[in-house]
Amino acid sequence: MITVFTTAITSRLEYVIGFMSKFYGVPVYLLDKNSVERNTSKILINYTENKHEEAFQVIPSGLLEEKGIKDFSPIIEKDFTTGLPYFFGTQKSDFHFDIFSFTFYLLTRYEEYSNGAIQDEHGRYDVRSSLAFKHGFLDIALIDRWLIILRNKLEQSFGISFPQKSHEEDTKIIMTYDIDFPWAFLHRPWYINMMALFKDLFLHRNIALFSQRFATLILRKKDPYDTYDIMLDSLRHLPDQIIFFLMRSGTKFDRNHQINQDYFKKLIQKMSQSFKIGLHPSYYSSAKPEEIFKEELIRLNKIVGEPTKASRMHFLRLKLPDTYHMLLSYGIQEDYSMGYAQESGFRSSTSQRHKWYDLEKEVSTDLTIVPLIFMDTTFISNKKASLLDAQITMEQLIHEVRLHQGYSSILWHNNNIALRKGQNNWRRLYEWSIEKISGGLNTTI
Ligand SMILES: [Zn+2]
Repeated sequence: MITVFTTAITSRLEYVIGFMSKFYGVPVYLLDKNSVERNTSKILINYTENKHEEAFQVIPSGLLEEKGIKDFSPIIEKDFTTGLPYFFGTQKSDFHFDIFSFTFYLLTRYEEYSNGAIQDEHGRYDVRSSLAFKHGFLDIALIDRWLIILRNKLEQSFGISFPQKSHEEDTKIIMTYDIDFPWAFLHRPWYINMMALFKDLFLHRNIALFSQRFATLILRKKDPYDTYDIMLDSLRHLPDQIIFFLMRSGTKFDRNHQINQDYFKKLIQKMSQSFKIGLHPSYYSSAKPEEIFKEELIRLNKIVGEPTKASRMHFLRLKLPDTYHMLLSYGIQEDYSMGYAQESGFRSSTSQRHKWYDLEKEVSTDLTIVPLIFMDTTFISNKKASLLDAQITMEQLIHEVRLHQGYSSILWHNNNIALRKGQNNWRRLYEWSIEKISGGLNTTI
């Protein structure tokens, strides 16, 4: 359907073409002067510096012919008509910038390898280093937007329409959960519980917390973080959901329950009957993959009874390329960490799930990245936002995914679905998000 003529077929260009082909839902072929095949497509893109009469020209910036990572920052320009940012601008071509290099740069998270990239206190790439944050395009799927503009231009130039992309499998917002604290009060040693009750009352004078703890431990009321029935009930509206379990306890950042206890195993097994289960690799897992990560994965596989294929890093501790090398070497096929803890939006500038390109090895890998566009704690603890602000943002992001028939994910923690006295009731936003995703709800909460 589309043929791209180039001077050099590189693995970088093949990767971008593969993404475009999936995005448009049409085959895109690559040809160079050595190709034996001939062009049979109605749409021909000339991705060289030389002019060709019947082809639509995009002038290459050179990035896709390079190997290795250069330390540079692209010069951002703003398009007059659309107001959208772009880079790798060129003159005298049919498209005003090298959209292939642009897509490659953003999709591979090239900038995260830069020497100037700032890390936050958890060793994560800091959102404030990113072009998307600095130039205000984190809340839109910029690659998708430009690919739509390119499609319109191609349709105009060649006088034909692209076929409608089939909706079903490729358009989805996946609801996902991280279980960092399975219970608030239950299943702790009795002396810790007693001490906690004492502290609530006499040290912190927190009557609300005392009464909640007392109700759970003494009156045997339901533990507030035990929101599993609500999650199970939501499956009636939204069948495809994933739960990520943290499989470690005992560090400052992994304050889980005793993972080798029966009650914990039973919870995972119960949820695995209805949900897809993923691993939530612990805070230090990537420091020692062969010990920590491997042990956590084996433990989870044993409990669930089958190999785990999905993962999301605890604290979203994603470091390129090390984290993805680790996931690939242990057979993980899908990662759900491609988002920021401090801000919501599109970290890889697309709403589409996409393969990870390994810039160190210069190959496209089998690891699928599902963008994470919204996390509850970004708004609850980091931004301390109101329910309404969080809802407005979520609605815009969901709209952006739907606009491009994307495939992205949203993250909730079980403890934030819990009802809390005297605080924002985030469960309302959770329930709203389930309805919004499943049925296109149009009301405010
Ligand atoms: Zn976590």
